[in-house]
Parts: sequence; C-alpha cells; structure tokens
Amino acid sequence: MGTLVDGRAVAAGVMEGLAVRVQRLHDRGCVPQLAFVLIGESGPARVYAGRLERLATTVGIDVSRLQLPADVTVSGLERQVGALNADWAVDGILVQMPLPPHLVGAHLSSVIDPHKDVDGITVSNAGKLYLGLPGHPPSTARAILEIIDFAGIEIAGQHAIVIGRSNVVGHPVAELLLNRHATVTITHRRTRDLFCLCRQADVLVVAAGAPGLITPDALKSGVVIVDAGINVTEHGVVGDVDPRCVEVASVMTPVPGGVGPVTNAVLLVGVVESAETRDA
Ligand code: ADP
Repeated sequence: MGTLVDGRAVAAGVMEGLAVRVQRLHDRGCVPQLAFVLIGESGPARVYAGRLERLATTVGIDVSRLQLPADVTVSGLERQVGALNADWAVDGILVQMPLPPHLVGAHLSSVIDPHKDVDGITVSNAGKLYLGLPGHPPSTARAILEIIDFAGIEIAGQHAIVIGRSNVVGHPVAELLLNRHATVTITHRRTRDLFCLCRQADVLVVAAGAPGLITPDALKSGVVIVDAGINVTEHGVVGDVDPRCVEVASVMTPVPGGVGPVTNAVLLVGVVESAETRDA
C-alpha cells in the first residue's frame, strides 16, 4: 500500500518559504503583484481568481483583476496586456484560459512580457525550458516536480513516463524531468500499447484529461504516480488515475488535493521571482 501525498501540505510548505521572501521585498518597499486578466462573465475564471487572491494575500502578494468586456477584440486584449507589460508595479500576468473562441487568434504567446509570464505560455519561456535555462515554466509542470521533490524521489536515471503532450502540462513536464536527468517517454492518444509501456515506468505522470484512464494493471509495483488530471464528472472531481492504484504505487497524488493546490502556490513563486529581479 502506497502513500498519498497531501498537496495542501506541499503547498503550505511552498507558501511558508514564500512568506519570508515576500517580507524581504516589503522591507524594500516592493509589493509583488499578479495581474489577472478576466474576459466577460466567466464564472470558473472568477472562482479561480478569488482562490488565488486569498492564497496570495496570506503572504502579502497583491492580485489585481483587469476585467475586460466579453466582446473585447484581439487587438483590444493585446493592447491591455501591453499596458500591463509596461506597468512597473505588475510582476506577473495571467490571462484567463481557455480564451473565448473569438480571441484564440490573440498572440499572447508573443505579446506577454516573458519576464511577467508566470504561467510559462510564451515562446520565450518555452524556449528557455527546452534549453534548460532559467525562466517561467508552466505552473502545473513546475508543481509536479515540486511534489516529486517533496516526496524525496531521486529522479535522475529513472524511467519517467508522461501521459499527455499538451503545451501546458505533458510536454513541459517532460522537459523538466529530462533536465533533471530522468529517461523520459512521452505518450499520447495515438500511442500503441499504452499499458505495456506504463508497466516500465518508475515515475508515471498522467495529464490526459481522461477520468480513470490508469488502472492498477498498468503499473509496476512501487511506481511513483503524479495525477494531473482534473475531470468534473457526475461523481465529482476525479483524476486520470483510478484511486485503487495507490495499492500498487509507492507514492501517489490524490485528486482533488494533489497537484491542484501546489500549482497555485508555485504560480505565486513565479510572481515573487519576477518581483525579486524588479527590485534588484
Ligand atoms: P491537459 O491540459 O491536462 O494537458 P489536454 O486535454 O490539453 O490536457 O491534453 C490531453 C493530452 O492527453 C493529449 O496530449 C492527448 O494526446 C493525451 N491523451 C488523452 N487521452 C488519452 C488516452 N486515452 N491515452 C493516452 N493519451 C491520451
């Protein structure tokens, strides 16, 4: 029987470390600020903004909301982001995702100042990740590494299998694992014999958006599993990994209460990192 990692405890540890760094910034007259860009009436985005705001406030980070009308144009959105880029008091910029359909053509991946791109969506930060240079990786990917480190897992030389190749989770987490010297296999919807491959994994990161995709018969005994799936079903929020997998794993993250809370905390780490260089 494996251990479930308490993501809230990991997040609390991250926030504790942040509080000290933010205090140092306050002492120098700098208040880190994350600007959250909201478009129209999106309920989920507002809930998320509220959650981030409450968490940020506990350590003295400001979260400002820029509410744009539902019919804002691509150039209007890009102009507003440009103004946040130019605002010296803003350290991080987060734009509500997914964008409404009429805005998908906005070039946020090249418009947001990479330095303020705390969720790692810009071309510049993707390139830095690929080159192994310091930058802002996507926060879910960063959270997955934070959890693996918290659990004391030495990943160098281990076979890590990542299920999913999205730009926000699967692909970037594979780069982070590679940068830490894991042997990495990326799998996706077109992968043949997924379970056969999975049984070779020492570390299994699942970001497929497919509820209950991974069952115990896909696992090698003692595997470390990080479940980044968040699926809203009629049975509530569930992950991509069948909860019974903990019986075969050595360590596993639950959903909810696993990767999610850590993602919010590491996003704020990105804001503080930016503020520290602003202040330098
Ligand atoms: P996320 O934002 O969590 O990364 P996306 O929906 O953007 O999720 O991407 C899902 C990824 O998971 C895709 O790369 C897709 O190929 C992969 N995927 C989805 N379903 C399966 C499956 N049944 N088996 C393997 N990979 C899958």
